[in-house]
Amino acid sequence: MTASIIDGKAFAAGLRDTVAGHVAALAADHGLVPGLAVVLVGEDPASQVYVRSKGKMTVEVGMRSFEHRLAADTDEATLLKVIHDLNNDPEVHGILVQLPLPDHLDSDLVINAIDPAKDVDGFHISNVGLLATGQKAMVPCTPLGCLLMLRAHHGNLSGMEAVVIGRSNIVGKPMAQLLLGESCTVTIAHSRTRDLPGVVRRADIVVAAVGRAQMVPGDWIKPGATVIDVGINRIDAGEGKTRLVGDVDFDSAAAVAGAITPVPGGVGPMTIACLLANTVTACCRANGLPEPE
Ligand code: NDP
Repeated sequence: MTASIIDGKAFAAGLRDTVAGHVAALAADHGLVPGLAVVLVGEDPASQVYVRSKGKMTVEVGMRSFEHRLAADTDEATLLKVIHDLNNDPEVHGILVQLPLPDHLDSDLVINAIDPAKDVDGFHISNVGLLATGQKAMVPCTPLGCLLMLRAHHGNLSGMEAVVIGRSNIVGKPMAQLLLGESCTVTIAHSRTRDLPGVVRRADIVVAAVGRAQMVPGDWIKPGATVIDVGINRIDAGEGKTRLVGDVDFDSAAAVAGAITPVPGGVGPMTIACLLANTVTACCRANGLPEPE
């Protein structure tokens, strides 16, 4: 293996420590406690795990955690009323609606009902527009985590060739916007891209956000490139067991890349840490205080 491992777990622990420091200072200097509300509709097992771990880490950094668990058959009006009440609750600085929502609910409508200033996931149409136009936005947590690791590894990203594989609203598109904001030359690849291996081979930075286990092999990677693997895929590990892998074939990619994030332990832990950081930012903005760097 030639690549250095970008240790997202350690990086996220450092970011959570920083957040805890900001939370302590807000309490000591201003009597403020940032609050994060998470709304979960239904009983999707993966979502339940995420929500539990978000609540736990929120409390660990000293913030208030509010959980709203609603039945799978909750109607739109009831959910919108919950969001409306959270929008008006001064103890709540961040609101997150756990996706995916059950099919009978319109995710766009629900997300756009969140006060953009409390939209710590950065999915509200106002925040999408602010990010796209280079204005102060709430930035989606997963791409933000990727960017923080890239900045820490490279310093200045200006002029680098970046290829983002995947064009979803929650990862691929905002990731591309952030890299553009860093003055990378950005290509967004997707399922209709012709010659994906050739496109990926141009990249100094590859961000894979596809959802297909080990789809990107090492021979697509330019020697020395930095590989950020967003994918989380569960595969059969034999003997009735499963294991998590990314969208990148780690072993072959690590043999050529300059640096790579593992799965698990790469992008995943950074996502929740960035959610906590965004909640502190929202609290500072709501109270007219300077926001943390
Ligand atoms: P989506 O399914 O919304 O998007 C997947 C994207 O990959 C689409 O744009 C799709 O293209 C593209 N794609 C699919 N097949 C191919 C292919 N064969 N070649 C090239 N592109 C392809 O997924 P998400 O963006 O929500 O998530 C992506 C992955 O990241 C998943 O594994 C998910 O679990 C993981 N994830 C991890 C997070 C974390 O915290 N680490 C957070 C969020 C997601 P098209 O648009 O043309 O269909």
